[in-house]
Amino acid sequence: MKQVYKETLHQDYGQFFTISRELYREETEHQELVIFENAVFGKVLALDGIIQTTTGDNHIYHEMLVHVPLLAHGEASDVLIVGGGDGGTLREAVKHPLASATMVEIDSHVIDLSKTHLPELSDGAFDDPKAEVVVGDGYAYVENTDRRFDVIIVDSSDPIGPSAVLFSEEFYRNCRRCLKPGGILITQNGVPYLQSDELTNGHHILSGLFEDVAFYLATVPTYSGGPMAFGWASDSTAPRNCTLETLRERFETHALQTGYYTPEIHKGAFALPPRISRLMTG
Ligand code: SAM
Repeated sequence: MKQVYKETLHQDYGQFFTISRELYREETEHQELVIFENAVFGKVLALDGIIQTTTGDNHIYHEMLVHVPLLAHGEASDVLIVGGGDGGTLREAVKHPLASATMVEIDSHVIDLSKTHLPELSDGAFDDPKAEVVVGDGYAYVENTDRRFDVIIVDSSDPIGPSAVLFSEEFYRNCRRCLKPGGILITQNGVPYLQSDELTNGHHILSGLFEDVAFYLATVPTYSGGPMAFGWASDSTAPRNCTLETLRERFETHALQTGYYTPEIHKGAFALPPRISRLMTG
């Protein structure tokens, strides 16, 4: 009988993974961390009973989190990643011609253990000269820093435990303060069919702070229950209205190699089914 990892994110619905081999298990200062191998998805990172990422399908999430804002912006120089300790978001960010990609992760164990057991996730990005890693609370970082960024990407876990503050109005207000004019904030807002509050609350808070607020979708198999939603917020409507031709030019200029992202998918991802659109207003 194979050992099984049961996700505990939802009360009345769930997914499980058989564990071919457990690579690591630890109760860190912040959360319970498990890394194991699964026959379908490869290596899997789970925190506090919730699947965070897998070597099999992480490219969908990380490419959509990073290339959508960076290609829409077009001139991003400084990027802040809040969370993202596995290094997948940093991996995609350093593919762009940035001056700096700063990652603020609360749990150094996630970084260290991902480097050891999941090196495919960061793929050397931690050693990129543009990368700067800060171990600390992302909430406190945006509250206190004098730095300004073109794009802020919140690659947080679900709003439970240390991530809960990363969904608060105060946090988003400080993100707005840390953005340069025309900058873009990207958030992960869960799977709308199962976590509708995350979209409704996210829209309510962000639309009180930013001129242009939208959500876009991508289906990531291990974030089960349908497509997941990413939040988009900016003081300018220009980056979201970036034309398909411009996105194609930038995509080709940067010679990005992707497994999911294309400029066409980028544009189409903002088309929401009516039932998801309606969640925005509650
Ligand atoms: N893709 C994932 C998902 O949607 O489930 C997110 C994965 S990423 C590993 C989330 C990271 O956010 C974790 O490493 C966690 O330690 C980090 N994190 C949680 N709360 C944080 C905070 N307040 N400041 C900075 N990082 C935080």
